[in-house]
Amino acid sequence: LDPTAEHFSQEELDIERALRPLSFDDFAGQEKVLDNLKVFVQAANLRKEALDHTLLHGPPGLGKTTLAHILANELGVGLKVTSGPVLDKPGDLAGLLTNLETRDVLFIDEIHRLSPVVEEYLYSAMEDFKIDIMIETGPNARSVQIHLNPFTLVGATTRSGLLTAPMRARFGIASRLEYYNTELLAAIVERSADILKVPISHEAAIEIAGRSRGTPRICNALLRRIRDFAQIKGNGRIDLEISRYGLKALNVDAYGLDEMDNKILATIIDKFKGGPVGISTLATAVSENAETIEEVYEPFLIQQGFIQRTPRGREVTELAYRHLGRFKGGVQPG
Ligand code: ADP
Repeated sequence: LDPTAEHFSQEELDIERALRPLSFDDFAGQEKVLDNLKVFVQAANLRKEALDHTLLHGPPGLGKTTLAHILANELGVGLKVTSGPVLDKPGDLAGLLTNLETRDVLFIDEIHRLSPVVEEYLYSAMEDFKIDIMIETGPNARSVQIHLNPFTLVGATTRSGLLTAPMRARFGIASRLEYYNTELLAAIVERSADILKVPISHEAAIEIAGRSRGTPRICNALLRRIRDFAQIKGNGRIDLEISRYGLKALNVDAYGLDEMDNKILATIIDKFKGGPVGISTLATAVSENAETIEEVYEPFLIQQGFIQRTPRGREVTELAYRHLGRFKGGVQPG
């Protein structure tokens, strides 16, 4: 269960779509973010204007794409979806932009991965709703300015630190999504079970929620797998027993930490005596890129109290030693 969920099959993506909330009311948690967005959407609707460009940042699976869909629904406009790595030519972007109706939402996922040329091209589109395009080729080639319908760019990024300053400055609204607590995730599990028409007990929903790394995408993925166990190994109903059985079979640990989370903790303990260790040294040791560790893994490990940041680097806590069954100094007491 990869929290970045880039390896899901088409079928899984279809189910994910079915589970995706479509309105503010269906979206659990993130109250501060939602309260603000509701006001901005209402005001934009009242004035019949496009919503200000909106940047959503935070770890994968917390609802950025979902919120982009919801914003389009609540604005009552169309949505076009693309992503930074896909948009590699200004011409592709021009095609998208010129097809936007007034007030439409253009969602660009992984906006920190836009190429500099495309990013530059986006600036005038965002600022003045104008772009220059080249027409004809050869000696007749010339650039003409095209006016765009006012639109809203919703950008999502897991790495706000990698966004350029001029890009960031062009967003009127910026919101950070936080990890979800167990209670909220349990509510999401129960809602999803309802949509999938699988009966589930409240205790089972809480059990699954508690092992989901604070992430709705993961709690939904776990629910779908445990539904399989309930159907094949049980009576179709998800109760506490079958969910524990399934979670064990899926190798999900008690805190919902995944392989990379555990590898990071074990490496700090085993190779760096518990830390402190600098992020780039750690990244090399676990063969993962430093930004991914900083933006995807570390925030959850810090939030759960496994790691702390010190001026000299990352240090594991007592809880990490206990979780991995290790003992400080490598000596088993007693
Ligand atoms: P991101 O774009 O941040 O990676 P997504 O918006 O794709 O995350 O969310 C992943 C899945 O988690 C969605 O399909 C949706 O079903 C579910 N989800 C995310 N946030 C919520 C929420 N607040 N309430 C209910 N379901 C959610």
